[in-house]
Amino acid sequence: ARNTDGGGIAVIGLGRFGCHLASSLTQLGHEVLAIDRNGERVQRWSPYLDRVVQADATEEGALRQLGVTDFPRVVVAIGASVEASVLTVLALAELGVPQIWARATSDKHAKILGSVGAQHVIFPEAETGERVAHLIVSKMLDFI
Ligand code: ATP
Repeated sequence: ARNTDGGGIAVIGLGRFGCHLASSLTQLGHEVLAIDRNGERVQRWSPYLDRVVQADATEEGALRQLGVTDFPRVVVAIGASVEASVLTVLALAELGVPQIWARATSDKHAKILGSVGAQHVIFPEAETGERVAHLIVSKMLDFI
């Protein structure tokens, strides 16, 4: 269990959100294992990340083979496919990953992610929208 307390983080899904997350974590000095089922995405990100591999994350056996169980934290950054995100969280929970973070696209999606084993549910679009609204309003107040 090489990474169990070494701060390693696995990021599943290299869409716009996942790739920024993975590169920020890398810049912060963490060991990142990035996984995507799309070969083009894997090739595109390989020069910028330590370890990028192609796999279908809904398959428990594939995750085990990649050594995902060595990572204490895994982030499921898949957004558009609710099925893929839920099945991936389920596979990670079955593998006994201690900290599962998962991205939700709706409240119902979030509830399902929680019930299959995600400890942390994030809403990147909603959270960014809210943050930018506060930023705009605070800048408005600067001019009063
Ligand atoms: P973003 O908003 O972050 O760009 P998106 O909603 O446009 O994401 P998604 O469909 O959520 O796109 O996919 C994000 C990434 O997750 C894609 O690169 C996709 O190939 C990957 N992905 C989807 N399903 C799986 C899976 N089962 N295993 C591994 N990767 C997957």
